[in-house]
Amino acid sequence: MSRIIGIDLGTTNSCAAVVEGPEQKVKLIPYRGGEYTIPSIYAVDDKGNELIGHDAKRQWQLNPRNTIYGSKRLMGREYDPNVVQQINNYFVYEISEQPNTNEVLVAVGGKRYGLPQIASKILQKIRDVASDYLQAPIYRAVVTVPAYFNDRQRQAVKEAGQVIGLEVVRIINEPTAAALAFGVGRGIEREMVAIFDLGGGTFDISLIEIRDRVFEVKATGGDIFLGGVDFDNRIIDWVLEEFAARNPGVDLRQDPIAMQRIKDLAERSRIDLSDRKECAFNIPFITMTPAGQPLDVDLRLTRDILEARTADLIARTIETCVRVCQDAQLHPSQIDHVLLVGGMTRMPAVQRAVTDFFGKQPSKQVNPDEAVAIGAAMFAFSLEDDSNLKVQLLDVIPMAIGIEDARGQMYEIFKRNEPVPNVKTLSFTTSQDDQADLQMRIFQGDSQVARTNELLGEFTFSGIRLGRAGEVRVEVAFNLSQDGILSMSAKDRDTGVEMKTTVKLSSVRR
Ligand code: AMP
Repeated sequence: MSRIIGIDLGTTNSCAAVVEGPEQKVKLIPYRGGEYTIPSIYAVDDKGNELIGHDAKRQWQLNPRNTIYGSKRLMGREYDPNVVQQINNYFVYEISEQPNTNEVLVAVGGKRYGLPQIASKILQKIRDVASDYLQAPIYRAVVTVPAYFNDRQRQAVKEAGQVIGLEVVRIINEPTAAALAFGVGRGIEREMVAIFDLGGGTFDISLIEIRDRVFEVKATGGDIFLGGVDFDNRIIDWVLEEFAARNPGVDLRQDPIAMQRIKDLAERSRIDLSDRKECAFNIPFITMTPAGQPLDVDLRLTRDILEARTADLIARTIETCVRVCQDAQLHPSQIDHVLLVGGMTRMPAVQRAVTDFFGKQPSKQVNPDEAVAIGAAMFAFSLEDDSNLKVQLLDVIPMAIGIEDARGQMYEIFKRNEPVPNVKTLSFTTSQDDQADLQMRIFQGDSQVARTNELLGEFTFSGIRLGRAGEVRVEVAFNLSQDGILSMSAKDRDTGVEMKTTVKLSSVRR
């Protein structure tokens, strides 16, 4: 029978798991060579062949322009020149804007793709491996996303599934999945768990109360622009400064292959420094002088340098922990267990900061790289008809959703950390005689000024009954699904007649 699998679609690596066998055990799905994770990288080689995962990573130093890495950061985002500039400082693939829709496009192998299409290639690879392993086709999956993903980003993940005919039956938050991996089957009476999730590209912190098989999120927060990539970038900056001091006038930023070699070694050295105090940072023949003389990078990177250069990034994670504890009205000492999720939590300085903040050692019960996929698979299994596992997730939205009022301020319809699913209705009265339509812009974010938040959609409800100003009342329903995705509808409050809805620029469904 075709199973629902659980997929952790990560910025750096992805991983899948499934519950199977007569004893209904969770298993991570192995890839070639027995590894459980696949790099979330898509590339096209010189001959036009598509490469995904390990094969793509293997050639990225030589072909960086056609290697799409870290693309989850751009998923479901509007094209924003600042963000693109930030990414272009370190990644060398071309990023452009789809005219009219504002969608971000990336170029690879001479073609442009939207981010859901890139994600669909990675999902396809995961699905192929999983169906080989299970000897059955896979049509359905539970996919995890950072808790701090907004509506548009969640919608983009659903679209990625649609591109390859994979139904994303539920989207669940990564920390919630990790809490499932920790808590299911342990008969917990009532415990408060903090999940600190620092991965390759994103950071999330969630406070979740576990009552046996009920997992209730009390508050969540995070930063979709904070992860291993940012730590690597700090090492890259250090290497470039040191290199420039030794070789005045030679700018390695202009050389994509040199940058890719530095980036690759930056990540490997950073991982080494989780176990050692220092390591060599050598790249022979990185470039040539104008006179044709080869130059090397020949440095020593220490844990002290790494920690000094990244202290502010770690401080940002702790600031978010403070806010989330305030939102949940909990003191850090009231947390029973701290779970570390995401490869970056192996960095000693991160572990120290978390231990100091919560005043206790993190739990060793979950594996930071595997917990999210395992939790996703458990949840997937709980949705199967023949499942003996029933879990209940009570999740929240990470950021407020609201409309722009006449003064450009954000009128919040759902506040941050309000539970999902959720429905709210608002009544509007016409402000002009014979007003035929009603327009509104929906935003998501925590700023008071609507425009500084993420625009989710521009709605027009038309066909309003004609009448004097203030006489006709329109009732708009805002429906938030369990996945944290918004849909909307409107009707005449007095006649009950549904309005026609047109949507421009939107992730929001009618
Ligand atoms: P994830 O998104 O959870 O797969 O996390 C991947 C990130 O964790 C990447 O930025 C890796 O460089 C980083 N990472 C993996 N192992 C370690 C380690 N031992 N020490 C520090 N960072 C690590």
